[in-house]
Amino acid sequence: MYEPIEPFKIKSVEPIRRISAEERRQALERAGYNVFLVPADEIYIDLLTDSGTSAMSDYQWAGIMMGDESYAGSVSFRHFREQIQRITGYDEVIPTHQGRAAEHLLFSTILKKGDRVPSNTHFDTTRANVETCGCEALDLQIPEATDLSSRYPFKGNMDVAKLEQLLQQGTDNIPLVMLTVTNNSMGGHPVSMANIRAVSEVVHRYNLPLFLDACRFAENAFFIKRREPGFENKSIEQIAHEMFSYADGCTMSAKKDALVNIGGFLAMNNKDWADRLRQSLILIEGFPTYGGLAGRDLEAIARGLEDVLHEDYLEFRTGQVAFLGKLLTDAGVPVIQPFGGHAVYVDAKTFLAHIPPSQFPGQVFVCELYLEAGIRSVEIGSVMFAHQDKQTGEWHYPELELVRLAIPRRVYTNSHMRFISEAIISLYQRRQSLKGLKIVYDPGVLRHFTARFEPR
Ligand SMILES: *Cc1c(COP(=O)(O)O)cnc(C)c1O
Repeated sequence: MYEPIEPFKIKSVEPIRRISAEERRQALERAGYNVFLVPADEIYIDLLTDSGTSAMSDYQWAGIMMGDESYAGSVSFRHFREQIQRITGYDEVIPTHQGRAAEHLLFSTILKKGDRVPSNTHFDTTRANVETCGCEALDLQIPEATDLSSRYPFKGNMDVAKLEQLLQQGTDNIPLVMLTVTNNSMGGHPVSMANIRAVSEVVHRYNLPLFLDACRFAENAFFIKRREPGFENKSIEQIAHEMFSYADGCTMSAKKDALVNIGGFLAMNNKDWADRLRQSLILIEGFPTYGGLAGRDLEAIARGLEDVLHEDYLEFRTGQVAFLGKLLTDAGVPVIQPFGGHAVYVDAKTFLAHIPPSQFPGQVFVCELYLEAGIRSVEIGSVMFAHQDKQTGEWHYPELELVRLAIPRRVYTNSHMRFISEAIISLYQRRQSLKGLKIVYDPGVLRHFTARFEPR
């Protein structure tokens, strides 16, 4: 089997310790069968998220020491701005403390009540920031995105016909269109260059701006190189540059493809918008040459944005995700294919076919994987998305019951991947004996973070 090799050697290590099976059982009970409530030192391998969990390189750590902490005109800001300008081609660069702050600044400045914002699929924080402004967030993903049997290589794409139809009805209350690359809420699947180009053509024909939610732009660029004809011989930087060239601006969480633990930014060509955004930036984040960040953070981001363009890094990164995915599919475990950029998604509905959505099969998987091996994953199914009809009291369940195994960048080795696959395969072999959960505390909004459960 193809095994990707780590394109780095390890200079600093962080010990991890696995508590006993009995201690795990007690920890899970204390946490109300919700792994968000389990303290991190009781977790052995943490696949909760790829956000802010990256390991920085020695080059980035050296940059941390060299960060310029000047309040105004920091040299580190210059490095940050130049690197972002080089990749995106956008003139205006605005630092923020993370992605959602960039979203909040953008939407609170340019949206007015009643506006609508189309996207391939809005990420949770993007949707929440649009809705908080009294606006509507529209998801226009392609049908292949939710078709588990489809092997379409660009399941992250936007449905261009649906977009055209929407814009035809009038654009008065549509101030911009967003495109999330890769499509985090839809399996981390990439968006093709052809799709970005087609979306751009439609959006610009209606004289609207297109913004990329660019958190995983480099992983997306790598998939274009590998899966889309005509890009085989282009560098990641060239491909990324072309992706950004079809849009007018971007928001980004640096906690993903900038390979740092905190940070974000906005970049755009529209100077008028940028000036207005900077007014609010000064109120809520800070002076325009640091946003919500320290100089050392800006330096680490600038360098992370160099690291991430290296093809050997991206080959390993996406290869490691696919390696785990393949270990699982070879054993018959149902997972979403093709494999996305930052996570493997287990199809819990098929895995635990005997447990109905009302008994949370995804959450059962997450709890059992923790009990089995101390591995933390996250449910993306009924706990997160089921909602109750206020009038009839009837519950509506999402189409998919998924568990996301998010892989932090440069943190775990392939032997960790093998260990994870063995734990899941062992769970798979005894899946018939697993029982459902009932919810005993439901906080309502964003309940997955704090809900509590009990075994049935
Ligand atoms: C993580 C993420 C965000 C939000 O960024 P934060 O840094 O967590 O605030 C927005 N969009 C996408 C696609 C993301 O993955």
